[in-house]
Amino acid sequence: MPFRASVLTLYPEMFPGPLGVSLAGEGLRKGLWSLDTHQIRDHGIGRHRNVDDNPAGGGAGMVLRCDVLAAAIDAAVPADDMRPRLLMSPRGRRLDQGLVREWVAGEGVVIVCGRFEGVDERVIEGRDLTEISVGDYILSGGEMAALLLLDACVRLIPGVMGKELSGQDESFENGLLEYPHYTRPREWEGRGLPEALLSGDHARIARWRREQAETITRKRRPDLIGKV
Ligand code: SAH
Repeated sequence: MPFRASVLTLYPEMFPGPLGVSLAGEGLRKGLWSLDTHQIRDHGIGRHRNVDDNPAGGGAGMVLRCDVLAAAIDAAVPADDMRPRLLMSPRGRRLDQGLVREWVAGEGVVIVCGRFEGVDERVIEGRDLTEISVGDYILSGGEMAALLLLDACVRLIPGVMGKELSGQDESFENGLLEYPHYTRPREWEGRGLPEALLSGDHARIARWRREQAETITRKRRPDLIGKV
């Protein structure tokens, strides 16, 4: 079964958005992955289909109601659906390549996009949602975060990237940041190419790239060293 993404949102028109173009878009049209969106407001309360209310205890902003969100989840996701249920949230576990790889190996993901101040805590517990963050900053809603998460997944689906996927060399795939790339022209504004890359000696080139990757990782992201 191809990777299936189900997204619950107040703004389904934001999907597939950027994932509808380029290789992800082609993959979607070819059926290499699929996307269904579910309007949370369809489960809103009353004539105005209200989805949010004032925070209990007072304070600024609005909170997505747990009953509304739970009804939307129950309608979109059958009880025997084994896909992880993710809630985009700045409080969540930080998204990384390891998580992405794990999800791509499975059947797909269900993603709940928050808005306003966030969602009523009880639905996180009651529907077993796993909070995922895309970084230490605040977005206005979970949709952009969901698109980002899905982009990282979709490019790993077999067939989506074709031979453009350089795979193993990519940053994070081997616990290191990637070495620097170069292409034509051979000289530009007085800058040449690193000697090793012109040598034609594959072992030397591999060694040079490894050294560069290690140096850059030590300098920029020492926290990654020894992680894989
Ligand atoms: N009051 C919240 C922020 C709400 S932002 C707090 O301080 O934690 C509104 C919604 O945007 C959130 O419910 C979440 O779904 C999404 N969002 C914002 N920043 C995010 C991030 N860094 N990662 C993932 N989702 C995020």
